[in-house]
Amino acid sequence: ERSASEKSSFNGVELVDVRKSYVTGDRKVEAVRGVNLSIHQPGLYAVMGPSGSGKSSLLHLLGGLDRPDSGTIEISGRRIDALGEQELTRYRRRDIGIIFQQFNLLPTMTAIENVTLPGVLDGMPMDEARTRGLQLLDELGVKPRADHRPDALSGGEQQRVAIARSLLFGPSVVLADEPTGSLDSASSDRLWALLDELATNREVLILMVTHEPSAAVRCGRVYVLRDGVIAGSFDVDGMDESELVHRATHTGRS
Ligand code: ADP
Ligand code: MG
Repeated sequence: ERSASEKSSFNGVELVDVRKSYVTGDRKVEAVRGVNLSIHQPGLYAVMGPSGSGKSSLLHLLGGLDRPDSGTIEISGRRIDALGEQELTRYRRRDIGIIFQQFNLLPTMTAIENVTLPGVLDGMPMDEARTRGLQLLDELGVKPRADHRPDALSGGEQQRVAIARSLLFGPSVVLADEPTGSLDSASSDRLWALLDELATNREVLILMVTHEPSAAVRCGRVYVLRDGVIAGSFDVDGMDESELVHRATHTGRS
């Protein structure tokens, strides 16, 4: 659990004029074209926008899976755009949580082995990794599944295992790229409730790319991405789904 001193050091996410292009053959795509983003409170936040607007590229930059061409990215008080290769690897393992649509669990390992793997790779004592891992699986309601392999778990259970893994080192920022994209609507609903609870109870900032209005209404704020820039944002604050869809559709358009 987070101590009082850790709470007060909550720093969030600060991006200034972040840019990233990809070159494929002789074609250059400007996926992220000057993103500014400043979030300094824990909670659940949504990133919405049309397909190809740069949502995944942005999350990759935040997660240290890719480097920006220019601009600054500060996560939890650290400039991650300036990290060396080794530091960046360590950052990905310890300081940030990432959840993917396809769960990305290793099929030959059990749930608890998947959860403890980042700890094992980064020198966390085995006992500690196991204790923390089981506690997280318990918190996420999948402790009875700890010794099962992913193929014996439902999609919703697999995603909860992946969330447990993302929280092993207690990061204060968690990124999620369409985390319920592979789940049915009932499992999706349970997952959003769970993410919401985690954000509150653990004081984590969860930044979630989603197309689902029913997910976005649970968020505190929605950031709308268009053509690689944040075209605007709005507080959700009790909005219903159709109102939210309307706002998201019209934000940043004339
Ligand atoms: P979104 O997640 O909003 O659908 P992406 O970030 O995946 O959008 O993609 C934004 C643009 O950048 C798209 O035109 C996509 O084809 C391009 N892009 C993203 N990643 C790469 C990559 N690794 N190589 C080449 N082009 C990429
Ligand atoms: Mg995407």
